[in-house]
Amino acid sequence: MNITHAWAAQDAKSKLAPFDYQPRELREHDVQIEVIYCGVCHSDLHQARNEWKNTIFPVVPGHEIVGRVTAVGGHTHKYKVGDIVGVGCMVDSCRSCASCDEGLEQYCENGFTATYNGEDRQTGDITYGGYSTQVVVNEDFVLRIPENLDLAGTAPLLCAGITTYSPLHHWKVGPGKKVGIVGLGGLGHMGVKIAHAMGAHVVLFTTSPSKIEDGKRLGADEVVISKDADQMAAHVNSFDFILNTVAAEHDLNPFINLLRRDGNMTLVGVPENNHPSPDVASLIFKRRSVAGSLIGGIKETQDMLDFCGKHNITSDIEMINMNEINEAYERMLKSDVKYRFVIDIDTLRG
Ligand code: NAP
Ligand code: ZN
Ligand code: ZN
Repeated sequence: MNITHAWAAQDAKSKLAPFDYQPRELREHDVQIEVIYCGVCHSDLHQARNEWKNTIFPVVPGHEIVGRVTAVGGHTHKYKVGDIVGVGCMVDSCRSCASCDEGLEQYCENGFTATYNGEDRQTGDITYGGYSTQVVVNEDFVLRIPENLDLAGTAPLLCAGITTYSPLHHWKVGPGKKVGIVGLGGLGHMGVKIAHAMGAHVVLFTTSPSKIEDGKRLGADEVVISKDADQMAAHVNSFDFILNTVAAEHDLNPFINLLRRDGNMTLVGVPENNHPSPDVASLIFKRRSVAGSLIGGIKETQDMLDFCGKHNITSDIEMINMNEINEAYERMLKSDVKYRFVIDIDTLRG
């Protein structure tokens, strides 16, 4: 099979640079995909720099993939050559545990296989992600893209979209609910759009005053500067649900205090170091809860894509060439992304 051109980090301190590899031979249920666009998630940066202490180098990041099917295995039924498809954060799971049985492969009790930095269940080879000219993925972990959606803006739905859709859906966000989204980055801006489309009253919390207008344009009914104590105080005890997407450790108490009785704040950001433990009394006296949430299952990812197709939701993106990825990472660290970088993988084909 053709050699794959990719970009990889060779160790935690190095910049990403060109890296070629030989993809696996197609298995019976495999789909070979020519990558067209790949979104840049903050998790890519965390892993390229080994901030989660589990990176196997070299690492080829990228789990917001859209592309075109170029070949299929002998028993592949779901997709055919020419189909436009997506791949998110997972490429396999055990398929037999209770979570997999429920379509919650992201919580696979035997560990799902990550799109990159994962271990192939048959060969033990390390998986490589979408900063690549092609990927080979089992058909059960490939998604169908609604035809009406712009392809580049669809790529970020495969992680940022599902990671926000899943908890918003799980916690029953909808009309009559007051919902907060913390952080207007890749995940946060999708959270604002999706919560708005679900019919909730949406309040964006941002540390960046320059993002107020964008927050409203993206669907927030109100925008609060989270560092302004007076603005925060005006919302005490009023939220049904808060989705916290911040990528850095921070004090959770100012947000917990905004929850009404029985309100929940769900964390999706995975900072390098843990947040300080929140104040116990403010949880107990109002039966408030703090939860976490991990991406979403395959069926739920398809539901999210169909929901976005119906509501015409895509990500607001800034397209970059492959060789601009290191600069993009630096800008992401400065919260300077509007609101997701997407790599034009054609620039990798040469
Ligand atoms: P991102 O685009 O960099 O956005 C993060 C946003 O958080 C920033 O735009 C900024 O928004 C805010 N922020 C950053 N530093 C902050 C600080 N020190 N204090 C307060 N706010 C700060 O990142 P992303 O791609 O959306 O990812 C967010 C996090 O989710 C990452 O940790 C990522 O690894 C994680 N993630 C988790 C899952 C999951 O399944 N749970 C899936 C994907 C990603 P403002 O400028 O508006 O304040
Ligand atoms: Zn991601
Ligand atoms: Zn499983």
